[in-house]
Amino acid sequence: VMGGGPAGISAALAMAELGLRVLLVEQAPQLGGHLREFAGVLDGEEPAEWLAERVQRMEQAGVRVRTHTAIIRSSRQLDDSYLLELASPEGQEQVQAGALVIAAGSLPAQPSSFSYGQDPRVMTQDELARRLGAGEDPGDVVMIQCVESRTAERPYCSRTCCAQALRHALRIKEAWPARQVVILYRDLRAFGHYELDYLAARRAGVRFIRYEPHQPPQVHAPTAGRLEVEVVDALLGRPIRLPADSLVLSVGAVPAALPHWLQELGVPVHADGFLIPEHPKMRPLSLGRPGIFACGAVLGPCFAEEAVLQGQAAAAHAAAYLAERTRRRAAVESIAFVNERLCSGCELCVRACPFEARVMNVERHVAEVRAAFCAGCGTCAMVCPNGASQQRLFETPAVLQVIDAALDSLWEAPLPEEKPC
Ligand code: SF4
Ligand code: SF4
Ligand code: SF4
Repeated sequence: VMGGGPAGISAALAMAELGLRVLLVEQAPQLGGHLREFAGVLDGEEPAEWLAERVQRMEQAGVRVRTHTAIIRSSRQLDDSYLLELASPEGQEQVQAGALVIAAGSLPAQPSSFSYGQDPRVMTQDELARRLGAGEDPGDVVMIQCVESRTAERPYCSRTCCAQALRHALRIKEAWPARQVVILYRDLRAFGHYELDYLAARRAGVRFIRYEPHQPPQVHAPTAGRLEVEVVDALLGRPIRLPADSLVLSVGAVPAALPHWLQELGVPVHADGFLIPEHPKMRPLSLGRPGIFACGAVLGPCFAEEAVLQGQAAAAHAAAYLAERTRRRAAVESIAFVNERLCSGCELCVRACPFEARVMNVERHVAEVRAAFCAGCGTCAMVCPNGASQQRLFETPAVLQVIDAALDSLWEAPLPEEKPC
């Protein structure tokens, strides 16, 4: 698993609890990713509690965790596994993986407008979350949505920042009811149950003002006195001036830098930098390459709860893929064959084979196996009346040995106690 945020942790834990051997690789010195700065609740738990509990469960389930480590190269092997080269401060090493789950996440965008970085009263939603977490009163607040988002340079919607703004507005109103909170938006994307947050925010007195993209808000940030935000209200069609103590920018997310080997393996990457799933509805976590799956914000901006669910789903996909690979290998190794000396040419096996892997050699009047079609199901060996049809790994002596071993263990086992009538 590449990436130790909520998606990667959920994927690693789910796979380990299914009995797979899992290695979780994280570039940062600690697990958690964006969750470490997340201000909400996740699955009803505080993010720190969620993280500590999952880390403990990963330890119990035997997940090997390598922080401060990057996968710098990967190549596909003939047996469909991947040879990965890991680099860490301790050096480099190679590991072999049957499946890869990419959970590299995303990063908060860094704005360059609205005096951000020059005036301490201007902050992002994540920075506001940290201040609120520390109990800091932000004063009267103006929030600007879609900052440097949904533009020609960054055309996508980050999906989470409207809900984040609503949550923070409610938090401010709950802690300091007299504070003015105004949200300047283009479209408020409060889908699903976030609609309830929108209604609660309206009831709590949060004001919503829509602006047009070609008339973005203007900010005056005098060194003395309060901030002033000027915006043309798209519904009233006239400018409004809003004094504020804090200006909060909803900046959205940008993709994390992806390693070059992903593209060398043929994993498709969108022009905006997120991975492209094989099909957005039918195969949303598959990347069209055998054994490579993705989950969380590496596929596009998503909520932490969605990342967790996607991580668990990617784990199920990877486990199913590995099980199928094992089954195929077993099928190849346990392919059927015909002992021609014993074959009477009765054709029973030809009629019984469910995979059309049996044909008659009419010249020699014996059955033959089409190896490429044989699934190793053993039906032909069962129906053959002469013992001519056999399966590799299940030849008669091998089966007899298994039966002997089973009977031996039965004789050695203590007899069940007889119950009186
Ligand atoms: S979710 Fe973010 S990018 Fe999308 S509309 Fe809301 S503020 Fe804009
Ligand atoms: S093992 Fe199954 S698939 Fe293979 S030849 Fe026999 S019946 Fe057909
Ligand atoms: S069932 Fe046995 S004897 Fe009959 S054709 Fe097949 S291999 Fe030969």
